[in-house]
Amino acid sequence: MPRRKESQIEVSMHGRSFVLVGIAAAIFAAGAIAAPGGDSLAAFDAAARRIMALALRTQGAYGMLDTLTRKAGKRLSGSPGAAAAVEETRRMMEARGFANVHREEVMVPRWERGPVERGTLLRGDRKIPLAVCALGGSVATPAGGVTAEVLEVRSFEELRSLGAAARGKIVFFNRAMDPATFDTFEAYGGAVNQRGAGAVEAGKAGGLAALVRSVTLSHDNVPHTGVMHYADGVVRVPAAAIGVQDAERLSALLKSGERVRVRLELSCRTYPDVPSANVVGEIRGSELPDEVVVVGGHLDSWDKGTGAHDDGAGCVQAIEALSLLNQLGLRPRRTVRAVMFMNEENGLRGGLAYAASTQRANERHVAAIESDRGGFAPSGFTVQADSAVLRRVQRWAPVFAPYRADRITSGGSGADISPLVKNGTPGFGLMVADHRYFDYHHSGNDTIDKVHPRELEMGAGLLGILCYLIAQEGL
Ligand SMILES: [Zn+2]
Repeated sequence: MPRRKESQIEVSMHGRSFVLVGIAAAIFAAGAIAAPGGDSLAAFDAAARRIMALALRTQGAYGMLDTLTRKAGKRLSGSPGAAAAVEETRRMMEARGFANVHREEVMVPRWERGPVERGTLLRGDRKIPLAVCALGGSVATPAGGVTAEVLEVRSFEELRSLGAAARGKIVFFNRAMDPATFDTFEAYGGAVNQRGAGAVEAGKAGGLAALVRSVTLSHDNVPHTGVMHYADGVVRVPAAAIGVQDAERLSALLKSGERVRVRLELSCRTYPDVPSANVVGEIRGSELPDEVVVVGGHLDSWDKGTGAHDDGAGCVQAIEALSLLNQLGLRPRRTVRAVMFMNEENGLRGGLAYAASTQRANERHVAAIESDRGGFAPSGFTVQADSAVLRRVQRWAPVFAPYRADRITSGGSGADISPLVKNGTPGFGLMVADHRYFDYHHSGNDTIDKVHPRELEMGAGLLGILCYLIAQEGL
């Protein structure tokens, strides 16, 4: 079988022998990429295979996600669930033998949904329930709710062009995520301003409330929450999301010429800030302990599901990445640190506090890596850094190729690490098959049954491999 011989090369490494295939083999065998640390990519390939096999065999990330979503559950900042999540992940790090496990205190906003959350379509004597939920940060409606005619718009421009037509109405923002946009995060970006700023625009136009089509690509009737904001000098009107099926129902009634009336009742409330914490643990670097590779996700979640994909997945993957290195005895040259960031969803206080902390004074952050696109099958990494760093990391692609995760492209990394990236730290984001992410995102659908153990572990394995490569090689 001469063809097979040409494309496969047997390599012996640390007393183990394995077969390299295709282009990767050619590069390794030629010694084309010898790392400054003295290790070749072939050595990293051997370590990577052990990391991934251990991840898939032991399913440690999934076990932690089960614990986190069961014991802490929903984890909005300042809630009992968020406090439980701090304690649970601290325990997980200690149980896995991490060094320097500690909490880093941070004040976070506290908003509560409250007991009343009701939308009702009023048609003559008929009262038809609508699937709604308050947007995060919304004020409550007055007692008895807001009852008004509905005005549908698809954009802020359209709302402005209607002049006084919105006065006294519930403004219904019904622009869907564009299904033709291949990148789901880009499609999300094209619709999410209705959720974030809809209340401000409704308030400016004289509306009484904002009702926003859920930002999702699924076609169910589950409402999706998420953060919204107000603006100084603009009246604060309540804001809620509505399920996609109900949004289309309202739209169809309006198109038929019916004057659609809705009652919206919300009891949500903002309280003073409360103390919370990021959770930090690490493997100390054997040669350069003050040079740090951070890997993390955000510990807080919205309060509808249990934040299994967003971002329980990223948190447990980060812990598992370090645990895999520990279990295999792979002691990194630089420090590898897992950080559970608090309050990404409605404030980013944890990410900001981590980057600003004086505890960082004697450290140099070599890289910051975040997983916050759901616990789906990974496809590679985005790199948010200059082109020299990107080119350097792209030369490592053969190490990731066996896991079909060797797409290494320029792009945004993650919200929690953005303050570090702003200070010049190269940022990395785990890229995944995210086509279903927004089906679950910020909704009651985001529960652990939607996370596939194997896909979750592949992400943990890849993070472990990337952390190890950067910790050995630098950037
Ligand atoms: Zn998230």
